[in-house]
Parts: sequence; structure tokens; C-alpha cells
Amino acid sequence: MFEYQLKKSTRRKTVAIKVHSHKVTVYAPHFVAKKHIDTWLFDKQEWVAEQLKKQSSIDDTKQYPFKSKKISVFSEMIYLRLEPGQYSKVTSYDEHLLITISPRVKNDFQKYQQLLETYLKEQLIAYIEMRLAYFCTLMGEELPNDLKIGVYKRKWGSCNSKRELTFNLHLIGAPYHAIDYVIVHELAHLKYLNHSKAFWQRVETFFPDYKTSSNWLKQNGMSLQWVF
Ligand SMILES: [Zn+2]
Repeated sequence: MFEYQLKKSTRRKTVAIKVHSHKVTVYAPHFVAKKHIDTWLFDKQEWVAEQLKKQSSIDDTKQYPFKSKKISVFSEMIYLRLEPGQYSKVTSYDEHLLITISPRVKNDFQKYQQLLETYLKEQLIAYIEMRLAYFCTLMGEELPNDLKIGVYKRKWGSCNSKRELTFNLHLIGAPYHAIDYVIVHELAHLKYLNHSKAFWQRVETFFPDYKTSSNWLKQNGMSLQWVF
């Protein structure tokens, strides 16, 4: 038999196996005894061996700065893999992001960064656009004139008198509530281009728990500044 990590939960109703990062995890309802799980797994040995073998054959890459690492996307850990491939592209599946680099590319690392940045930008824009529409309706605001995503050191977002909003790409690693807070904060600036009492009141009206999110960003902000 293979080695595995057992994760039991009271909510789960069925047994499931997951093979990732060369490890096997078995998820089971809390009431199932280990010997029953082992009996069940006995039949799955071949499948598990096959999955593990598949993963190790993917691992035979050497010319890259890393083969895999973890990043946070909307606060979820995503495994990033870098591999040579026919085309340069990003493929997302489950909690993995596979970045393949074509042999025609000269600067692998630059290409990888560019692909990853574009992919994450698309994800963040899609989320922000959806939430902007929601909060604009809620706050009785017209949609902003422009929306930009950039990489900034010192700000999560900004708003100017031309009703143009910007958001920091590093927000992609934050939980949804923190991103929502930044959206409401910038939308509140459409009415008050300052941090006056009236401004904070507007933020609180439409995002009552804003302090939790703003503290989260203060405490975890630095850890979101990876890669770029
Ligand atoms: Zn502000």
C-alpha cells in the first residue's frame, strides 16, 4: 500500500483521494474507521501509482528557476508549475496553474512573469468589474470612467477627479472582503476626494465591517507583494 495523509471531517459524506505534489491525501467522513478506508484504498492502488508516476514524469525539467511554487490567488493557495511546452500559455486546473514556455522564447523568466501577470490581471479585473457594478448600484453611483490595474508599492487603489479608478495587482492575493473594501473605498472617493469624516461615514454605510478588511490589508499587505 501507499502512504497517505488522512483528513477526516464531520461534514463530508463520501471518501475521496487526491494526488498532488507527490502526496496522497484521503478525505473521509469522521465516522468511517481506518480499516474500512484501507480496504477501500486497496482497490485504488493502481490508480494512485499511475497518478504519482504521471506527476514525476512532468517533473523532469531543469532549465527553469523553479519547477513549482505556491502563490495566493483570492486568498487560496495555488500551485504554480513551470514547464517547457509547444506554446507559451497559462492553463488553470483545480488549484494548479500550469505555465508552459515555448522553446522559441529567448528569455524564459521574463516570459513566465509576463504570462503570469497577464493571467492574474484578467482574474482581478473580472472580479473587480463584477463588484464595481454591484457596489455602484448599491451606492447610487455611475460606473467609473476608467479602470486600471497596475503594480504599486504604496497604494491599494486610487481615484481621481476624472472618475478614473486604479487598483493594485497585488490585491489578487487578498481575500474577497479586502478587495471589496478597496472597491468601496475608491467608490466613496467619487463623492469625497479626501479622507474626511463624511468620506469614512460613506465607506461605513456601504461596507460596515470595513475596519476588519482595512486591518487585514495593513497586517498582510506585505506578504502580497510577491513576484512582481
Ligand atoms: Zn483613500
